Amino acid sequence: MKFDFVIVGAGFSGCVLAERIATQLDKKCLIIEKRNHIGGNCFDYYDDSGVLVHKYGPHIFHTQMKKVWNYLSEFTDWIPYEHKVNAIIDGIEVPVPFNFNSIHKVFDKKKAQDLEDLLISTYGLGVKIPILKLKETSNEDLKQLADFIYEKVFLGYNLKQWGMKPEELDPSVSGRVPVFLSRDDRYFQDTYQAIPKYGYTKMFQKMINNKNIKVMLQTDYKDIINHLNYEKLIYTGHIDYYFDFKLGHLPYRTLNFDMQTINQEFFQSGAQINYPNNHEYTRITEFKHLTKQEHSKTTIAYEYPEEYKFGKNDPYYPIPKKANLELYERYKDLADNEKNVYFVGRLADYKYYNMDQTVGVALQLFEKKIAKN
Ligand code: FAD
Ligand code: UDP
Repeated sequence: MKFDFVIVGAGFSGCVLAERIATQLDKKCLIIEKRNHIGGNCFDYYDDSGVLVHKYGPHIFHTQMKKVWNYLSEFTDWIPYEHKVNAIIDGIEVPVPFNFNSIHKVFDKKKAQDLEDLLISTYGLGVKIPILKLKETSNEDLKQLADFIYEKVFLGYNLKQWGMKPEELDPSVSGRVPVFLSRDDRYFQDTYQAIPKYGYTKMFQKMINNKNIKVMLQTDYKDIINHLNYEKLIYTGHIDYYFDFKLGHLPYRTLNFDMQTINQEFFQSGAQINYPNNHEYTRITEFKHLTKQEHSKTTIAYEYPEEYKFGKNDPYYPIPKKANLELYERYKDLADNEKNVYFVGRLADYKYYNMDQTVGVALQLFEKKIAKN
């Protein structure tokens, strides 16, 4: 059988492009996925107790991009959900991103009010300040506050999550969770925030349910690519693997998830509690808070960050720092010279994309390049 496109990877990038190509261009696609399921890292499933869980950690959809929201809404209804996270600091639950409510939780009333006033007069109400920026302040009181937040919220978490201090990484990483001069406890302020009503996997199934799309699971594309008859390749795996690591291995970070089902209705106060300072895990997710599922039991996931090793575990996070980005650029030069191959997605672009960014980039690739060729 002849395919117009072979697509490596059945995550968001692969499924969005398959859907577009099949429905808009009426062309035939084969998706090859090495795991035993579609959905990439957004895959969810009902565990042995019947609780809906996210296999690769909590996935909360949020976006400012109306176009992405409207596109995905063709394949799912939504449960409105606004994510809130508490971190355990000195034994108590404190909202993260660190905000005015957090300040009032950890300092006495007078000190908290003074700091709040000082922050507003210095930066303005509603402003978001990355911790590494706040640490640059020349004001002694703000410096003490910045050091406190850095020590209690960021340092320990980063050492576990990345094996590095925040300042050793691109500032955009700790900048994802900036200090927020507000009383808004939400993790994201985006206009659209929700969870697919019947789960992510159901949404992906709907997306690729098309006579023009075939899916082959549990197959590494390298094992069969030379036996396939196709025109073009879309590659969403890690870029260094495509090139047989000829410039060296690009570092990624991985996680180990310890899922536990507990015979009680709820385990913790919300969907996500972070543990920056204690324990080897970084956070505990309780899925029922996200999915709003009613069940007498509950399933939680402990996240243990680990070093990624090719062949041993899966690459989940690119590690944004200068040397790695330079190596990626050299791979990108090779990629730009490949004929009839498109590289796209979090692994192939080596970019810390959220889901909406992933979808946005895939839609743009389709519109600007694939549909025009
Ligand atoms: P992936 O989902 O990684 O899909 C790539 C697929 O390619 C994989 O299924 C892989 O098995 C397959 N593949 C790779 N190599 C080969 C090969 N050689 N042969 C065949 N198949 C191959 N985003 C949010 O917006 N909100 C969140 O709350 C959120 N939480 C996250 C939590 C965690 C722990 C992680 C890791 C990510 C989170 N994300 C979140 C980001 C989100 O997961 C990504 O944006 C999205 O999954 C990227 O999709 P993708 O298709 O580019 O990559
Ligand atoms: N972070 C932190 N402490 C926290 C939460 C986040 O230090 O309590 C930092 C850490 O570097 C983390 C980054 O902010 O990797 C991004 O956090 P996010 O919740 O966006 O991570 P993800 O959900 O992508 O793993």
